[in-house]
Amino acid sequence: MLDKQSKILKKGGKLSQEVEKKITKKVAKTVSKKGATKEVTEKLPDHHFKKVKAKRGLAGLGLFAGEDIKKGELIIEYIGEILNKEQADKKATSQYLFEVTRNRTIDGTPRWNIARYCNHACEEAANAESEIKKGRVFIRAIKNIKEGDEIVYDYGEEFVKEHIAPYGCRCTAKKHSYGADGVKSGN
Ligand SMILES: [Zn+2]
Repeated sequence: MLDKQSKILKKGGKLSQEVEKKITKKVAKTVSKKGATKEVTEKLPDHHFKKVKAKRGLAGLGLFAGEDIKKGELIIEYIGEILNKEQADKKATSQYLFEVTRNRTIDGTPRWNIARYCNHACEEAANAESEIKKGRVFIRAIKNIKEGDEIVYDYGEEFVKEHIAPYGCRCTAKKHSYGADGVKSGN
């Protein structure tokens, strides 16, 4: 599974240092039966920048912070099969397609794309955003996120119109950003 992720990541080409640096972190872990703790270095899976886990949330499975995350920090990369326009058009109804450019779409359907569990939230409730960088897609915190919080970002009008408006938005915002027709409302 991780091999596949690595291959796909390599297709993305060169990125900024922020993205390419090895993601390792020191965590306190209990390492002996006596309960002594020691700093150990733990490597996160390839496309993770922060600890996250998928579990049941407001709208089915959601993505939750496994540690505190600061505003501005990268959380996870949205990965998947890379499709050209023709291939993407054939799968047009899939809700996991992420169009990066006209001829490059990431199909994030596979379950090893943990970022697919990140749900939509309207502007008021969103604590993250998606960011396209050199043909790749990253989820970045736009607020401080506490361990255990669900990570959500605004999917944008096109997606909301097609996949969310027909059922009604279930995000926690008091005032949703989109009308019943999925059109973004003014402030
Ligand atoms: Zn909403």
